[in-house]
Amino acid sequence: MTGPEHKCGVVGIAASYNVVPALQKSLMIIQHRGQESAGISVFNDSGIQTVKDNGLVQTALSKDKLQGLEGSIGIGHVRYSTTGSRGVMNAQPFTVTSSFGTVAIAHNGDITNYGELREKNLERGMTLQTDSDTELATNILVRHTVETRDPAKAMKLTMSELDASYAMTILINNRLFGIRDPYGLRPLCIGKIDGGYMLVSESAAIDALRGEFVRDVLPGEIVEITKDGVISYGGLMDTKQKAYCMFEWVYFARPDSLIDGREVYDVRKKIGMILAREHPADVDIIMPVPDSGRAHAIGFSIASGIPYEEGFMKNRFAERTFILPDQKEREMAVSMKMNPIKSTVAGKRLLIVDDSIVRGTTLKKLISMLRDAGAKEVHVRVGSPPVVAPCYYGVDMKSRDQFIANHHSVEEIRDIIGADSLGYISIDGLVEAIGKPKNELCLACVNAEYPTRIPGEKQRFQSTLNVKY
Ligand code: AMP
Ligand code: SF4
Repeated sequence: MTGPEHKCGVVGIAASYNVVPALQKSLMIIQHRGQESAGISVFNDSGIQTVKDNGLVQTALSKDKLQGLEGSIGIGHVRYSTTGSRGVMNAQPFTVTSSFGTVAIAHNGDITNYGELREKNLERGMTLQTDSDTELATNILVRHTVETRDPAKAMKLTMSELDASYAMTILINNRLFGIRDPYGLRPLCIGKIDGGYMLVSESAAIDALRGEFVRDVLPGEIVEITKDGVISYGGLMDTKQKAYCMFEWVYFARPDSLIDGREVYDVRKKIGMILAREHPADVDIIMPVPDSGRAHAIGFSIASGIPYEEGFMKNRFAERTFILPDQKEREMAVSMKMNPIKSTVAGKRLLIVDDSIVRGTTLKKLISMLRDAGAKEVHVRVGSPPVVAPCYYGVDMKSRDQFIANHHSVEEIRDIIGADSLGYISIDGLVEAIGKPKNELCLACVNAEYPTRIPGEKQRFQSTLNVKY
């Protein structure tokens, strides 16, 4: 068992003024990384104080709820909604108090050795209230902090126990730290803002605070942020082969974010251009599945010279279809969410571009809607290779039978979704678009080769250096 998954967003700010409004604003900018719950912890004269609740940032952390919460150093979290792991008990930041003071953690990722670690620590007498891997990690860090009385050392010891994945912002009393797993699976970057510094999952939040991007936290690195600057304590850097999550660029992150040196929009546009090279089509217009396929479709249009048009109107306030438990409900929700624009599609040969196919529900429904609206042909191009294997690193794609590509060929999928043609980007094409060496990427959900040990799964070759902790 692993704990509830966290495709989440984290932030941490140290400044010369009350950081609560800036934390709240940053969480709104990374709201797409989690809509189930939101929370903020700050340090002030009374120690660490936390406000967290279920819901979107504007309700969970409304003006009323944040009334009286003040501090010049703090962290924040937005949590992804998945079936089965809801509840304010699992909302973050998690806090634990000890003889050394209080530790609060906001975590994006999924600790893969959670089961083993939980058992070992329960035997040693640790008490846990939830099945959250973040609560466990917080308690392990507290134990090391009490033992060593040295936060940086305690963090390194904790990191040597936790297996991927994690990007965390951590308050230890009045000090703010950021850590990232040695593979770099989940993103975390540093920004300079007026009167202080910040850590955040995505650089778009630094822009929103009118700050300047400084750099990414390196895989395996421990950094401390103060209002005056950034201190690096090294950590477990260069102990593992890097494995940046390709899905951050393909789907999760905002297009205006810079993830590990590569702008998401630019990568998506390149994916579209490479798709046009790998799977050209004789069509009248290129259109995106909004909003996830937009940049990919623009790239396809640029490379092919075929005009780009908006062929769907999306209802921004519709329910998220991906997490609905029932197939019928998901299909119904797609038609509530999208409506074809008849003048764009009627009588035309269309090519629609989306970022990924998981179950195939979205595209199947969209294609039948386009045909009902009079489309002559509907061709499909996809910005990631077929998704065939579960993600254990914090992304909500857990079971193999969920994936249409796991038990069907591309031709069969084309037939099931009702497309005239279907083309996925190749793995090498995707790597080319991201622009990083293939051996520095996690591609496990599309090639089933995991960068870390997962019982029952194939582990890809990796170099693990000998490190002394
Ligand atoms: P499906 O309808 O199951 O094929 O889902 C594919 C659509 O869901 C794609 O258009 C993606 O934009 C989106 N998607 C892919 N992976 C995820 C995920 N892990 N969580 C939420 N949405 C996703
Ligand atoms: Fe990202 Fe896929 Fe790897 Fe999960 S398995 S971390 S979604 S690339």
